[in-house]
Amino acid sequence: MHIENDVPLQNLNTFGVPAAARYFAEVPDVEALREALAWAKGRGLRVIILGGGSNILFTGYVDGLVLRMAGQGIDVQSLGRGKRLVSVAAGENWADLVWWAAKAGYGGIENLCLIPGTAGAAPVQNIGAYGAEFAEICRSVTALNRRTGEEREFLPQDCAFGYRDSIFKRHAEEWVITNIKLLLDKAAPLRTEYGALQGQLAAQGKERPNFLDVAEAVAAIRRAKLPEPKDLGNAGSFFKNPAVPAALYENLRAEHPNLPGFKQPDGAIKLSAAWLLDTAGWKGKRIGHVGCYARQPLVLVNHGGADGGEILEFSETIQADIAERFNVRLEREPVVYP
Ligand code: FAD
Ligand code: NAP
Repeated sequence: MHIENDVPLQNLNTFGVPAAARYFAEVPDVEALREALAWAKGRGLRVIILGGGSNILFTGYVDGLVLRMAGQGIDVQSLGRGKRLVSVAAGENWADLVWWAAKAGYGGIENLCLIPGTAGAAPVQNIGAYGAEFAEICRSVTALNRRTGEEREFLPQDCAFGYRDSIFKRHAEEWVITNIKLLLDKAAPLRTEYGALQGQLAAQGKERPNFLDVAEAVAAIRRAKLPEPKDLGNAGSFFKNPAVPAALYENLRAEHPNLPGFKQPDGAIKLSAAWLLDTAGWKGKRIGHVGCYARQPLVLVNHGGADGGEILEFSETIQADIAERFNVRLEREPVVYP
């Protein structure tokens, strides 16, 4: 294991904000992970786990050890009848995995196409898009307990998966995910209920789409709507879409008849955070080096030269404004370090 000192993190987070780690190491396997955790424990250092840095906001110097998950390896096991159990090491690239599955005709993850980051981070916020989420295809998540060094295999029901949430996000200082197992299926049902996806498939003339068609349609929408982090730093949606009580939704609708709302299994109504931001005039707005992306206001962008503190402050100004206008509290999605 090679531990480096004072390593810049600017190229390791998709916001592209300046930050540095006092100590840094690439972790290729479980043994190296155990060794690194023991090294940090012996020195009383805080440890931060890093994947692709696409859901993180660094606000300053990390006075601890940053471990970058770099374990590679994909193993495919046939379960018969077109079903495949796919075991993926935490450091594998998620987007590549989706393209591989869609091209091989294995369904279940095609809607999660083009989400940046690592496979090991997918369970952390139960990544989701276009009506699909990680939890649906998860067979198990293997994670190492930071305190004891022991590995445990979590079944989906033990992961407390929620909307952009899981036990691994809530207890970020406890577990390090080393491997995930997915159940993919050649006969998986297609999820094409999102209006934009239906429109894109129709525009591409795909009346009976396959998994690859859906992945390509999602990719086309995302490329048109979302900024490429290498061109404009960002971490995707900065706020979760809020679920509010039905009574509040009705109150808001009396004032805003075109407010979109999606009923949740528990009776709450999920609002579009992008709609709230757009209606409040945030779309395309810029303060200093930070702004709301013109084609999708939910995406906060670093126009160049922003640091994490400036992005955080901008996001708090938005939260205060949305709370005042709509009585809705927007919850941040990316994790803020240190
Ligand atoms: P990181 O940003 O490196 O880490 C995120 C968090 O997970 C941190 O707290 C980190 O400590 C922890 N973590 C990372 N790896 C591990 C591990 N192995 N074990 C334990 N903890 C770990 N998200 C969606 O859900 N849906 C989308 O559609 C979506 N679209 C996006 C589009 C763009 C352009 C961008 C930039 C981001 C988007 N995201 C989306 C957010 C992000 O890509 C996902 O959350 C992704 O899973 C983060 O992966 P990562 O490897 O970059 O994680
Ligand atoms: P969108 O499709 O314009 O939808 C806006 C909002 O309406 C979202 O809250 C979405 O919920 C909801 N919605 C739309 N159609 C729905 C339906 N048929 N049933 C239930 N809910 C519906 O959103 P977008 O911003 O362009 O993003 C498209 C998808 O990619 C969304 O699923 C979004 O979550 C995902 N995405 C996520 C990130 C990220 O960083 N987390 C970044 C980009 C895109 P959901 O959010 O629950 O889907």
